[in-house]
Amino acid sequence: MSTILVIEDNDNNLYLTRYILEHNGFNVIDAQNGIDGVKKAFNEKPDIIIMDIQLPDINGYEATKRIRESEIDGGIPIIALTSYAMTGDREKALEAGCTGYIEKPINPETFLSEISKFLNTQQEDGEVQS
Ligand code: MN
Repeated sequence: MSTILVIEDNDNNLYLTRYILEHNGFNVIDAQNGIDGVKKAFNEKPDIIIMDIQLPDINGYEATKRIRESEIDGGIPIIALTSYAMTGDREKALEAGCTGYIEKPINPETFLSEISKFLNTQQEDGEVQS
């Protein structure tokens, strides 16, 4: 079972992502601010991280940088949740070290396949290297 860390301060988005992921066999842990999110990334070593950008303390770019600079990095996929209206978000997310991004609002019909894409990519990369 894959463990996914959702760093998201919006209750509705957190509820929705948790609902979709748990019903598809993921073990979900969450954090509702950036500092807590970085801490849980270190302590829980999830298989994948979903990172909201606008958080109450440090933002998602900063949280991503802290994870990437740490020893737990290991190429863990970090998927940014960017808002469609904020055109610079996607570029900044990739610059900060995110693997990719998903645009908000979350579409329940495509969310899982978008997440799976990033997990599969990593597995394929692993096979090529081994
Ligand atoms: Mn937010």
